[in-house]
Amino acid sequence: MESTSALSFLLPIMMVTFSAVFLVLSRFNVPSGRAWGLGFGFSALGFIASVVPLPVEIGALSGDAFFVAGFFFYAEALLVQFSIPLYRRERAIFVLVYLLIDLYVVLVERSLHAELFLNDVATSCLLGFALLKVMDRATKLADRALIVMSSLVVLDTLARVMVFVFLVKSSNRLEDFATSSYAWAMQITTSAVGLLFALSVLGSITAATLLSYRDAADRDPLTGLYNRRGFDGALAPKKDSGRYEGTVLICDIDHFKQVNDRFGHAAGDRVIAELAAELGNSLPAHAISARFGGEEFVIFIPGASLAEGGVLAQSIRIRFAARDWRHIAIDRQITVSFGVAAIGESEASPVEAMVRADECLYAAKAAGRNQVVLEGGRFELRSAPEQLIEAAERLRAANA
Ligand code: GH3
Ligand code: MG
Ligand code: MG
Repeated sequence: MESTSALSFLLPIMMVTFSAVFLVLSRFNVPSGRAWGLGFGFSALGFIASVVPLPVEIGALSGDAFFVAGFFFYAEALLVQFSIPLYRRERAIFVLVYLLIDLYVVLVERSLHAELFLNDVATSCLLGFALLKVMDRATKLADRALIVMSSLVVLDTLARVMVFVFLVKSSNRLEDFATSSYAWAMQITTSAVGLLFALSVLGSITAATLLSYRDAADRDPLTGLYNRRGFDGALAPKKDSGRYEGTVLICDIDHFKQVNDRFGHAAGDRVIAELAAELGNSLPAHAISARFGGEEFVIFIPGASLAEGGVLAQSIRIRFAARDWRHIAIDRQITVSFGVAAIGESEASPVEAMVRADECLYAAKAAGRNQVVLEGGRFELRSAPEQLIEAAERLRAANA
């Protein structure tokens, strides 16, 4: 039994260490860090309560309460990590009802079997509920590993109590817990499963954090669109069968310096952000949009023809020009100009098309702004603006 008594100290130390690590991580923008920290912290208290010499009822009740609190927070951490509603009220009511039943079982029934069975079923229900909720969202490898390890915690908990209560002959006296085969098995399996569980949490948090930093490096903070680096990265996989196919749009706000000068830089920022939102609302979902600095946007629409690119650009131009800006104290119309060019059959990359689209944009500015110029000539409005916007919406929906 010597090795188990060593383990009985090792386990809380390990749990406290992980708890501290996760609480520290929560200070560095890891949203689930706090709940993981509290989960491992309460579990550590649960193990401490089971090894320090306390009056037997106090030891049992406090240990049970700590373990249930620990699993309450494990569940919360999973829900936070996978952006699922927290069901905090429902879970808190579940815990309260459990604690009342536990009081009865420990103080009145004084049954070790019932106490352990109820505690393990309650903790398994809490974690199992969260697992069922998040299962579908775990697509990345590190997240799947976390799901597997969390499931193993539930299985380990249930299997241990089933064996102890139903299969082996054991004392039902609360006083005999410390020397029970259950306590022995708990030290052994929880050391292994708990360590792997904590490591899988660390792995999935690390993977999510690295991904979020990588994504932030690829995006413009004001609009959430790609920056030039992100645009290049997003473009690479679109090279179908050896070449890029599609159309490039370049868009620039007209007389934007005047907007800044008259209404202030903050209002200018709002205009930039709203143009980005307009692009998001009006372009097909597979379009790749980027802010290339200043108030200039570059868009690649895979598979779109020059005419389709023109229709989309024209509908965005019309809708943007019709916007009312009085909510940000701008009392004038703001317009945009577009240059549009299609990638040629002999071109290996969208770079040449971007240069031509830029020349078209320059021509649109020179011709008076608030217009769309396609390579080969100005986009003339032959139908009513409403019909054009409808045509653009059909294009967007067809590619949704
Ligand atoms: P044009 O019609 O020829 O495009 O005229 P313009 O005044 O828009 O000229 P230009 O495109 O050269 O002006 C860009 C201006 O955009 C200059 C700069 O002060 C402003 N700008 C660049 N980045 C930002 C930003 O992040 N926020 C705000 N508010 N203004 C910006
Ligand atoms: Mg401009
Ligand atoms: Mg500009």
